[in-house]
Amino acid sequence: MNLKELSLAELIEGLLAKLVATEMIAKRDVIYYRNQCYQLLSLNPVIAQCVTNTDIAIVDIVTALYEQLSDEQRDRLGETRDIVEARIINTFIAAPSYIETKVKHLWDCAGSKVALDWYYQFSQDTNYIKTRDIARNESWLSHTNYGDLEITINLSKPEKDPLEIARAKLAPPTTNKYPTCLLCIENEGYAGSFNQPARATHRMLQLSLNNRDWFFQYSPYAYYTEHAIIINHQHCDMIINADTFKTFFDFVDMIPHYMIGSNTDIPIVGGSILTHDHYQAGNYVFPFEHATIKASYMLSKFPQVELNYLKWPITTLQLIGGRAELQNCIMHLITHWYGYSNPDLGIYNYDSNGIRHNAITPILRKVSADKYIAYLMLRNNRTSAEYPEGIFHPHRHLHHIKKENIGLIEAMGLAILPGRLKGELLALSELLLSNDLTIVKDKLSTNSELQKHSEWLDYLFHKYPTFTESTVHEILRHEVGMKFVEVLECAGVFKHTPAHDEALKQFIETI
Ligand SMILES: [Zn+2]
Repeated sequence: MNLKELSLAELIEGLLAKLVATEMIAKRDVIYYRNQCYQLLSLNPVIAQCVTNTDIAIVDIVTALYEQLSDEQRDRLGETRDIVEARIINTFIAAPSYIETKVKHLWDCAGSKVALDWYYQFSQDTNYIKTRDIARNESWLSHTNYGDLEITINLSKPEKDPLEIARAKLAPPTTNKYPTCLLCIENEGYAGSFNQPARATHRMLQLSLNNRDWFFQYSPYAYYTEHAIIINHQHCDMIINADTFKTFFDFVDMIPHYMIGSNTDIPIVGGSILTHDHYQAGNYVFPFEHATIKASYMLSKFPQVELNYLKWPITTLQLIGGRAELQNCIMHLITHWYGYSNPDLGIYNYDSNGIRHNAITPILRKVSADKYIAYLMLRNNRTSAEYPEGIFHPHRHLHHIKKENIGLIEAMGLAILPGRLKGELLALSELLLSNDLTIVKDKLSTNSELQKHSEWLDYLFHKYPTFTESTVHEILRHEVGMKFVEVLECAGVFKHTPAHDEALKQFIETI
């Protein structure tokens, strides 16, 4: 059905029918909500036939409705399209306490899975999760020596510059910014502005973890199934320590079908927001969980914990055991890592000003009643004259594909690559199809966007005899995957060499 052909009144009737079908509003309240909707749009109510199917997404009806508004009406409703669309949808959504009570009721009656399934669907129906934008992403699997890695070109969200992320951490807090950051709980129901996203339809769930208040929400730009964010109720810096795992254990005990993990708490090796304590969770199995075991160790202080060193480009220790012994062992291991230096490998735990370089990317999964698998990824954020962006960060020859920080999701084997690559790979495939490096070099000399791929093109021409319509796209996808392997290898503090293996063994034996 072409929604553009419908009248405004028909769209509103279609919207009301869809809202009833999704149980967002009760049939009893249709008249009330019709009046609310017309009031919002400053129009006199008109009753029309509902001619749409209920399989059309709410946001698609609302977008069609937006298209029919005059510029004046749009301006009156909000500064951007996102703000206006969220405002219209928000007219029909109950307040946070109602949503929370509904989820809690489902949780008590049928368990966390049924409750979160409902909340996940609700977050999509209300367009808080940008399902339509996420569908634009391009994804594929790349077969590598470390197993299959997942590659996604992110076409739904703009990429962030690592220097801006680091500067944001150093910047003095602005006293009048509201909400203080994208994760603050004050975003719940916040209209948005030119430079802040619309959050009118945002509804969070309050959780008590490790005797503190946390809030649960889904990521608007989900990178994997049921990508959730667990947010500290206070705007305070990220910190990874023994308390982190107490919170993690409480979380997976409460929601056993979800994993939980976190970015590190320092720049370069972490995620994009260091100034608000938060974790990421979800109903998803990541590539690193299929990694093979390279070596197993017995810890004399923790005989009940099984410790494995994984064959994974980022240094990953896997710990298996019950909650109490794992919690102790992890606390010990984090302290041990924060105290570890190895000049031969370029690992220094603190700089001369006492700023910590060593960090942990932590992950936890519950596998049965008292059996958990924890992962500690060992990270370091030192820079040098040779590697000013980071020694254990994608090196410059990889920046044409990826220069952003390697955070939790990528460390787990899911690449989030910048949206610019879609057009660039298409342009590169056309160049490769000429099968003539001289012509390609000539064209590159006048194309500032593609010049950064010049060395890569040399390599591809050298590696592959010819490119055809049927092979070029697969070759490029495969080679992007190989680049991502290198990106992850750069981030590994212990490389997979005999000397590094020995150093890691010594590190573990001194726990
Ligand atoms: Zn905040």
